[in-house]
Amino acid sequence: MAKMIENAAARAQTPFKNAPLIDFTKPENRQAQAAALEQVKGELGRTYPLVIGGKKIMNEATFASVNPSQPEQVIGYFARATVEQVEEAVQAATSAFESWKRVPARERAGYVFAAADLLSQQRFYYNAWMIYEVGKSWIEADADTAEAIDFLEFYAREMLRLAEEQPLVRIEGENNELVYIPLGVGAVIPPWNFPGAIMIGMTSAAIVTGNTVVLKPASTSPMIAWQFVRILEEVGLPAGVVNFLTGSGSTIGDALIEHPQVRFIAFTGSRDVGLRINQLAAKPHKGQRWIKRTILEMGGKDAVVVDETADLDAAATGIVASAFGFQGQKCSAGSRAIIVDAVYDQVMQKVVEKTKQLTVGDVTQPETYMGPVVDENAMKKISEYIEVGKGEGQLVAGGGHHGPGYFIEPTVFADVDPHARIAQEEIFGPVLAVIKAKDFDDALHIANDTEYGLTGSLYSLDPQRIERAKQEYHVGNLYFNRKSTGALVGVHPFGGFNMSGTDSKAGGRDYLLLFTQAKAISAKK
Ligand code: NDP
Repeated sequence: MAKMIENAAARAQTPFKNAPLIDFTKPENRQAQAAALEQVKGELGRTYPLVIGGKKIMNEATFASVNPSQPEQVIGYFARATVEQVEEAVQAATSAFESWKRVPARERAGYVFAAADLLSQQRFYYNAWMIYEVGKSWIEADADTAEAIDFLEFYAREMLRLAEEQPLVRIEGENNELVYIPLGVGAVIPPWNFPGAIMIGMTSAAIVTGNTVVLKPASTSPMIAWQFVRILEEVGLPAGVVNFLTGSGSTIGDALIEHPQVRFIAFTGSRDVGLRINQLAAKPHKGQRWIKRTILEMGGKDAVVVDETADLDAAATGIVASAFGFQGQKCSAGSRAIIVDAVYDQVMQKVVEKTKQLTVGDVTQPETYMGPVVDENAMKKISEYIEVGKGEGQLVAGGGHHGPGYFIEPTVFADVDPHARIAQEEIFGPVLAVIKAKDFDDALHIANDTEYGLTGSLYSLDPQRIERAKQEYHVGNLYFNRKSTGALVGVHPFGGFNMSGTDSKAGGRDYLLLFTQAKAISAKK
């Protein structure tokens, strides 16, 4: 389509820049977000189809996505896909792949840029769905949408770069080139906690490189994925390139992952599901012609380390923001604070004071800092960990929960042993374990002493310790004198070590390579 090629050519002239966050102190922005929330309220409770090969398919069996702030309020009803529909979706993606893989990279990038434009235009509306469906505060929802726009803008430009002539050593008598070609049909399985950014990031990376996908969104955030699928339809993406399959991962997941025509799986979610996917994908099935590629981004037990040279106010602010932003439901959440003995009491006191100032409640109001956790299961699991924590540390803030939504107070446990369950297991909620370290060496050892390795922060003003941490703090995303959350596309390529995943570095220059294979072509002159 000439328009898409023009679109990409024009955009390629402008370098990538992160989308600025919306300033909600401005009255016009507050009004616009409030109006979008009103609009979305009027659209709640509808029923949505599967999309397979461009066809909208309504199933009799549906499930409800609900508002975690008011669980009786239904966001929408979504089809429960069957195993037979997994087959149909994979067939639709397989047949679309035959033409989509031949669409020039510039045209594919053009669709992705067009989706970025539409999402930017509909930003308040998209934020509003996220506020309702997963209980994000205005600022958290907007940061998620901004990141989603960034992924679209960044990956489209990255594809244009990969489509250029690649540098090779030249030899006499031969013409040589290297081109990046797509893999085939991918299963894209995102989590609910960045229901816009991660879902859009994985999907757009897959399609801009020429693959086709079956997108199975998380069952607690299908609406956010539906809104993106609608945008893709509006920009005219050919049918079958993205197939939308809602339903429980435990019911349809295996059929999708094990399907012999699925070439790769892009997954972000929990450690246990990621490991299971890795295992299932490793076993070839009848008719399968490849080793499936898995791109697996998983959990974290991230730490914020504070030494005695640090700016203690900044450290306490960073600890609280890392632990409790979006109710602690971030893979990058700083769920452990490791503080050296010399300043432990001072930092502890500041952390408790700051935690007690946080507001928990109605996220449709702009001032609210924390909303509910995502669903009843999450609330139960987090509450159980709080009970475990009472036996493992000293409860110094929070600990309670209230309904009817799934609201949990920001909770801090002091004097936690580094090997306690609440210091080792990912809780994925607003629970902070504070650990006392003898000194900096001990703190660094404790920080590394988990099976994860996603993000980590160090608050220190000692240049030698900062240098040491660069060598020894074993995490995919290391931050100094700032919080452990808030990676920006292009600026902080994101992904973790050890059980945190395959370190894909989403939002970085290496990411799209995971969705391609390189073909070296030589011709004798
Ligand atoms: P889950 O692992 O529970 O679910 C992730 C996705 O996998 C969902 O779409 C889910 O579908 C699907 N799924 C569940 N079971 C199966 C199965 N057997 N086969 C195939 N798919 C399945 O994670 P959450 O959604 O709860 O997300 C939170 C987790 O994600 C945390 O551990 C967090 O640390 C991690 N995460 C990691 C990031 C990173 O970059 N490293 C970034 C963001 C989150 P359904 O909802 O239907 O069950």
